Amino acid sequence: MSALGDNGPLVIVGGGIAGAYLAAMLGRRGHQVAMFDSRPDPRTDTHGGGRSINLAIAERGLLALRQLDLVDEITPLVVPMAGRIVHDAERSGVSGLQPYGTLDDEVLWSVDRTAFTVALLNAAESTGNVETYFRQRCRDIDFELGLLTLADGTQDELWHQVPFGTVFGADGVASIVRSEIAEHRQAEGLPAQVRRDMLSHRYVELEIAADIDGAFKLDPNGLHIWPRNDFMLIALPNPTGDFTATLFMAAAGNAPSFDAVSASAEIAAFFGEYFPDLNELVPDLVEQYIDAPLGRLGTIRTTGWSYGDQAVLVGDSAHGIVPFHGQGMNLALESAMTLVDELEAQPDDIAGAFASFERNRRPNADAIADMALENYVEMRDKVNNADYIIKRQLALILTEQLPQYFRPRYNLVMFSSMPYALAEQRGDVQDALLADLVEGCSTVAEVDMAVAADRVIALGPLADVGAE
Ligand SMILES: Cc1cc2nc3c(=O)[nH]c(=O)nc-3n(C[C@H](O)[C@H](O)[C@H](O)COP(=O)(O)OP(=O)(O)OC[C@H]3O[C@@H](n4cnc5c(N)ncnc54)[C@H](O)[C@@H]3O)c2cc1C
Repeated sequence: MSALGDNGPLVIVGGGIAGAYLAAMLGRRGHQVAMFDSRPDPRTDTHGGGRSINLAIAERGLLALRQLDLVDEITPLVVPMAGRIVHDAERSGVSGLQPYGTLDDEVLWSVDRTAFTVALLNAAESTGNVETYFRQRCRDIDFELGLLTLADGTQDELWHQVPFGTVFGADGVASIVRSEIAEHRQAEGLPAQVRRDMLSHRYVELEIAADIDGAFKLDPNGLHIWPRNDFMLIALPNPTGDFTATLFMAAAGNAPSFDAVSASAEIAAFFGEYFPDLNELVPDLVEQYIDAPLGRLGTIRTTGWSYGDQAVLVGDSAHGIVPFHGQGMNLALESAMTLVDELEAQPDDIAGAFASFERNRRPNADAIADMALENYVEMRDKVNNADYIIKRQLALILTEQLPQYFRPRYNLVMFSSMPYALAEQRGDVQDALLADLVEGCSTVAEVDMAVAADRVIALGPLADVGAE
């Protein structure tokens, strides 16, 4: 059994959100950490600048930030989103804000990915215990000799090696640390599985620039959704007055798909038919669409997150999920926080702490992976559908009247830290109940509220299943 640092230096591969957060948490606890990232330092390299790519931070992410006292620092970087704003297919106007919750603090925070990563990197370095190295790509790991091979990002032939005692793999969906762990576990007959399920849908990011006065062209208080059944577009506000819009659509096929919508005339016709309001807001829509890289989406489920006391995965490397619940980063931050908790609970047994970490987190990561996939159907297909709307209205009434007993699953995931697996189970039970209660009703006023209240109370308090 060994304690952290006993076997040699602590190294983090990947300085994205999970890596930078973990570095700050370990640095705060007095551990010396070296972190290597294959990309340039986002604080000094503005090459990727210009277009803003943003993410929604929810309660789990905020909880993680509170551990570093970073919430006040992040606040000026975010735009709060209090609900969804749906743009209907006929396109005469927008639905208005559908609030996420009944409580004032049930809002999501839209944050620029780069600004957020920079804040985490600064927090890590300010501990005085973290060294960061950029343009350093991990090529392989020699567990026998305890050596990590890194290639210089600009000159791939320039390799060097650094010693490590424990390596943290925060190197994202295409993790090299994951491959190395899997290979070594397999060789020793330990469970090791990496399942990667790619979606047939892909995405492009587009920008809705601010107007000439720097003001938002759309209401900035919500997450905009253009649900179109088989595809959808969403837009999140940035503090700079612009929005980042993301179009999710099938990669191929005859119906609207990225393959079928590729020539300028097809693109103009597509946006004209399905997103006419966007056409007015974004004069260079066709050019942006043509220039935007086509992103892939997938789910990664891994069994075997660690190798003895020498390596462990954290973030997307262990559990990449599709972005439709806006939870991948929140999950990654919560996982990094849990990993540190496990290490503190078993300070003299790193291997044991890593094993507990996987035992605790994997069922939860699997649950949010499933819920994120389901949410794609909900967002693109259901938010406009009458059955969904009546159930949602009833859910909001019950949440308001019986907050200790009822909160929609979406809210349990986004605005609480109830373990994801429990939120999924409770959500299934509540959804079946809502379906029962609205059966035969065409408006929510027809629901028998006395029966509804009795049945909801019979489910038991949410606090008993892990809601705070
Ligand atoms: C379109 C889209 C929208 C999203 N929206 C949201 C959202 O609203 N809310 C949310 O919570 N999540 C969202 N996510 C998910 C979120 O982006 C990820 O879950 C999050 O970035 C995971 O952080 P990470 O640090 O594990 O991985 P990453 O952010 O991918 O960081 C990995 C880092 O490792 C580095 N790296 C990779 N390989 C190597 C190597 N061999 N050597 C050295 N360094 C290496 C990379 O350069 C990178 O900096 C979204 C994802 C997508 C695709």
